[in-house]
Amino acid sequence: MKNIVILGSTGSIGTQTLDIVRINNDLNVSAIAAGSNIKALQEQIEEFSPKLVCVWNEEKANELRELVKEKDVKVVSGMDGLIECSTMDEADIVVTAIVGMIGIRPTVEAIKAKKDIALANKETLVTAGHIIMPLAKENGVSILPVDSEHSAIFQCLNGENKKEVSKVILTASGGPFRGRKLDDLKEIQVEDALKHPNWEMGRKITIDSSTMVNKGLEVIEAKWLFDVDFDDVQVVVQPQSVIHSMVEFEDGGVMAQLGTPDMRLPIQYALYYPERRTLPGKRLDFYELGQITFEKPDMETFRGLKLAYEAGRTGGSMPTVYNAANERAVALFLDRKIKYLEIIEIIEFAMSKHTLIANPSVEQILQTEQETYDLIDKHWIAE
Ligand code: NDP
Repeated sequence: MKNIVILGSTGSIGTQTLDIVRINNDLNVSAIAAGSNIKALQEQIEEFSPKLVCVWNEEKANELRELVKEKDVKVVSGMDGLIECSTMDEADIVVTAIVGMIGIRPTVEAIKAKKDIALANKETLVTAGHIIMPLAKENGVSILPVDSEHSAIFQCLNGENKKEVSKVILTASGGPFRGRKLDDLKEIQVEDALKHPNWEMGRKITIDSSTMVNKGLEVIEAKWLFDVDFDDVQVVVQPQSVIHSMVEFEDGGVMAQLGTPDMRLPIQYALYYPERRTLPGKRLDFYELGQITFEKPDMETFRGLKLAYEAGRTGGSMPTVYNAANERAVALFLDRKIKYLEIIEIIEFAMSKHTLIANPSVEQILQTEQETYDLIDKHWIAE
C-alpha cells in the first residue's frame, strides 16, 4: 500500500489523481488539501477517509470541522496546515496539484521530510528550481513529473544515458488562438480564452495555454527537471496534442511519447514509476488520426514564450517575476479588470522594472512575488 498526499485535491489534477486511486487498489489517501471548496472536500473525506485535511481558508476550515465532526479526521488550515499535510509521517509521495507559487514551501518541506514528489505544480520549479532540485538530490527524493510534456520526456529517457541527450523537444498545441495575429487578439474575452482545443484543465493553466505562457513555464520547468540548457529546449507546435514531447539524442535518434490527451496517464506513471499499470480509456487510433502536423511557434504574436526564454536565461529571481506577474495578470483578466493582451504587457513591464537577485532564497522568492504583485497593483491597475 502506498500512502499519498494530494495538495489541490479538488482541482483538475487532484480529482484525476483520485480517479487513479479508484482504479487501483493499493493507494491510500493519507491527506488532502484545497483552497476553499469544502463541499468537494467533504465528499472526498466520505469516499477516501484521509486522516488529515487542510483548507487554506480558516473560516472554511471551521465550517468543514463542523460538517465532519463525526469522522475520524483532523482539519487544519493555512500554510502550517499545508506543510503538516506534505510532511505527514505515513506519507510516501506528495502530489503537488495546487495552483501557483503557494506550492513552494509545502514542497520544500516535503522534500526535507524525504517524501517523493509527483510534481504538477510547475510554478514551484520555475521559481525555485535551483533550490528544489539540489535539495531533492541531497535527500534522496525523486521528483516525478506529472505535466504531460515532462512525463513524456521522462518516459523517453527511461533507460537512456542523460549525457547522450542533445535536446528536448516540448510539443505545444498552440492553444485556441493558434495562427492568429496580435490584431486578432485585441478583443479576446475570458470565455474565448477558456476554450482549450484538446485538454480540460483548471482556469489558470487554460489561460496560460492560450497565451503560450504555459509553454514558457514548461521550458523553464524542463531546464530544471532534465538539467538542460535553454538552447537545448525546443518548442514545436503539434496541434493534435498526440505527441506529448520528444528527446533528440546525440546520434540524431528521436524518441517520442504519444497517447490520447489524458492526464491520468502521467499521474499514474508518476505514482507507480518505474512500473506501468493498466489504465482504462481511449487508445490512439492512427487510422482515425490520419496525420500529425508540426509548426514553428509564432513568438512575435505569443511573446509570453519568448519572455520565458529571456527570464530563464537571465535566471536568479527573473523567472519568479515572470511567473508572479503572469499569476497576477491572469487573475485580473479572469476578473475582467484587464484586456487579454495586457497579460503579456504586464509580464514585460514587471520584468523590465526588476532588480535581479542572482541566487534567491525561498524567502527572497516569496518577497519578489509580493513585490511584483505590489508593482502591478500600484503602477498598472491604479494608473
Ligand atoms: P485547478 O485550478 O483545477 O485546481 C487547483 C487546486 O489547488 C484546487 O484544488 C484548489 O482548491 C487548490 N488551491 C488553490 N489555492 C490553494 C491554497 N491557497 N491552498 C490550498 N489549495 C489551494 O488547477 P489544475 O489542477 O489545473 O492545476 C494544478 C497545477 O497543476 C498547476 O500548477 C498547473 O499548472 C499544473 N498542471 C495542470 C494540468 C492540468 O491538466 N490541469 C496539466 C499540467 C500541469 P479549491 O478547489 O478549493 O480552489
